[in-house]
Order: sequence, then structure tokens, then C-alpha cells
Amino acid sequence: MIVAMRNDANPADIELVVQTIREHGLQPITLPGGERVAIGITSSIPPDVRGPLTELLDVMPAVDHVTQVSRPYKLASREFHPVDSIVEIKGISIGGGTFTVAAGPCAIENRDQLMRSAEAVKNSGAKLLRGGAFKPRTSPYAFQGLGPEGLELLKEAGDATGLVTITEIIDHHDVDLIVEYADILQIGARNMQNYALLTAVGKLDVPVMLKRGPGATIDEWLLAAEYILYQGNKRVILCERGVHPLDRAYIRYTLDILAIPVVKSISHLPILVDPSHAAGNRIYVPSLCYAAAAAGADGLLVEVHPDPSKALCDGPQALALETFESIMQNITRFLHSKEL
Ligand code: PEP
Ligand code: MN
Repeated sequence: MIVAMRNDANPADIELVVQTIREHGLQPITLPGGERVAIGITSSIPPDVRGPLTELLDVMPAVDHVTQVSRPYKLASREFHPVDSIVEIKGISIGGGTFTVAAGPCAIENRDQLMRSAEAVKNSGAKLLRGGAFKPRTSPYAFQGLGPEGLELLKEAGDATGLVTITEIIDHHDVDLIVEYADILQIGARNMQNYALLTAVGKLDVPVMLKRGPGATIDEWLLAAEYILYQGNKRVILCERGVHPLDRAYIRYTLDILAIPVVKSISHLPILVDPSHAAGNRIYVPSLCYAAAAAGADGLLVEVHPDPSKALCDGPQALALETFESIMQNITRFLHSKEL
């Protein structure tokens, strides 16, 4: 439920609404918006309370109108937060008119591989450096990442280039360690509904990029974001990376392009697109980058490698550094009003 106050509402009018909501055992929150104050209720409202409370609030001084929120998520919804959220980190703004590109290797393998990637993606115009230190792998026999040593290399590369760093967290026990080394935490597709992890990162004041699970509906994805927002961390970025495909013979995951304008219409959170994990094959990555830009995404998360044929993880989808550079040159044509 949202109570929209009139322009001329004074603090006493607002306080009366807040008190009335509290007296019904519910928690009011003041919502950011334009010139007018609005008060929202995030918790579920018992059916026998909703009607009488709506009637009571509707006739209070300076109340303009009362609306019922139709979505299961509240803090992630545009109804609660009409303007685009912008996540700021070290002078970079993600969302709200910018197109932010994160690029780097799937997994951090050694200093030379990471530094060569970092310098190249920076020169091509990327603002963020990605690199996995803790890798969630389908097989326990596959390379699992360098762990803490990878984090040290990531920090070193970030400090040397000035790039903002992003890395995946797979275990809530690693929060303290990872925030010491990285600027943005990535929650991977496999962990989208790891509620202990969502709750732990929700307690931080650090940007979190939440990938969509391959089998998750948009509501499930936004409810996962709601877990982080509910704990108080407002710096949430979404990332579409593809859903289970109809045709595994040719397609690793189906990039849900339509999810971009849909999410933009129902949520205020910035949304990036990861074309690499969707494509699974580098030859399809450029088209998906352009499609994401044209569909209104706020940026990209792309895998590159100085020598893709030697990559220890996700080599087939890794772009050569030169291909990444050419994508960055071409993409401005698809950006509408956003700035690279
Ligand atoms: C990744 O970005 O390295 C990754 C593991 O992606 P996803 O969670 O989308 O599979
Ligand atoms: Mn990968």
C-alpha cells in the first residue's frame, strides 16, 4: 500500500499517517520521489486490516490518494521508487543514463593474464574489471579459481588501472574477505536464491550485482533483489545472463532480451546484460552486446581473455581483446541517449 500525500502536506499531516499505520501493527517507510511525500507499507497487510485502514487513511488531512501495490516485491518496484536508481562507486554511475561496461576474464589465472586484460579493456573504454577468484563450477574437477590469491591480483589490477573491480561471492562466510579486495560483489546465477548470501550482502553498504537464475521468473529475480534491499543495502544492480534454452544443441542459454524493457518498466534498479554466458560461443557475443544496448540495458558484463584458446574457464565464449575493442567502438550506434 502507498499513501501519496498532497503537495501542501505538512510534517504533522505526515506524522499522523505514519502513526496510524504503526497503530495497525505495520511498518511505514517514507518513499523517495518527486515533490510529494509518499508513505509505503512493505509488510503484508492482513486482509481484514487492508479495507478499514485504506478507508481511514484516504480521508486524513493532506492525503491525496491511497494505492494498493500489485507486485509481490515492494522496495524493488517502480511503484515504491518511481525514479531510476543510480548505483555510484568510485566516481562511476551505474544506471540512469549511462552505459557501463564490465569486462575481464571469467577466472583470474595469473598476474600477466589479468593485467593484460585489465589494460586492454580500460583502453577500449570499460570502466569495470571483472574476474572470478571463487568460481562456481558445474564439475568439482574443474578449475575452482585462485581464491584469496586471485583477490589480491584483482585489487592490484584495479589499483594499477583505476578500474572498479567486480568479483563473485559464493559463500556468505567470505563477505569480510571479499569486500577488502573488490568494489562490487557479484551473486551468480546459481546463487540467486541463496538467501543466506542475499541476507549477508544486504547488510553491507557495497554494490551488489545480482544475476538472474537460469530458471528464475522475473518475479523470483526481483524478490531475490528484495532480500538485499530489505536488509538496507540499496546498491543493487541486476544482470540478465540467459535462461534455460529450448535448444541446447546450439544455444548455451537464451538471453531474455525482453526482460530488459520489462524489468525497466516494473523496477527502478539498473540492469546489465551478460552476453557471454548466454552465448557460450564467442561468435555470438557481439550481436548480443548490440541487442542489449538497443533494448535499453544500463551496461554489459563481458568475458575476455588475452589468449582465449588457453583459458582455464569458459574459453569458448571469451572474446579476444581486439574483438572487445571493436565492439566498444561499434556499440555507441545502439545506445540511444545513454553515454558510454
Ligand atoms: C560468471 O560471471 O563468471 C558466472 C559464473 O556467471 P553465471 O553466474 O551467470 O553462470
Ligand atoms: Mn564464466
